Amino acid sequence: MLNILIVEDEPAISNLIYVNLIEEGYSCTCAFDGTQAADFIERETYDLILLDIMLPEIDGYELLEFIKPLGTPVIFITAKGATDDKIKGLKLGADDYLTKPFQIGELSARVEAVLRRYGKSDRHLTFKDVTIKIESRLVTKNGNPVDLTVKEFDLLVELIRNKNVALYRNRLYEKVWQEEFIGETRTLDSHIQRLRKKLGWEEYIKTVFRIGYRLEE
Ligand code: CA
Repeated sequence: MLNILIVEDEPAISNLIYVNLIEEGYSCTCAFDGTQAADFIERETYDLILLDIMLPEIDGYELLEFIKPLGTPVIFITAKGATDDKIKGLKLGADDYLTKPFQIGELSARVEAVLRRYGKSDRHLTFKDVTIKIESRLVTKNGNPVDLTVKEFDLLVELIRNKNVALYRNRLYEKVWQEEFIGETRTLDSHIQRLRKKLGWEEYIKTVFRIGYRLEE
């Protein structure tokens, strides 16, 4: 699991970031002042640090000097309109910045983009007892690895991303196999059968009469 340090002294903002990143499958730690952040950074390795500039004790700029030699990616959190802060932050080597107040979608997008740039991105999808790591293509059920073929994996991702939606056979096939569906359903159907069996998901992957399949919560 990717480890993110959130350095932000405003509890409401810190909590907002924390809750959302946890939901996205990251592991997060919060530091509320510069000294605490420095302690955490000394003791632990983080994959990404979200760094507020105005902090009690040691400010974000000073912390950045301390973080830089470690090579940990940093996203600065700046106050609205503080253009000087952005420029200074980027010059000092921050990877990106977020301006308060920000949209949650923007937060996740920037976090993901920076992690990807560092080859660290490994987003998670979960459904029931199954967890999927998108980039490393690892699937586990109750923590135990499940061995899936390439197409079974792609099919599973498609089903989870569209959970509770009835998916037409032709669209599902074209999405996963990247070729035109010419009415031959055996390939898709047999892959669905194998997924049901390998994951023990007979009750979750429903056959929808005349349409196709639906992953049901
Ligand atoms: Ca602050």
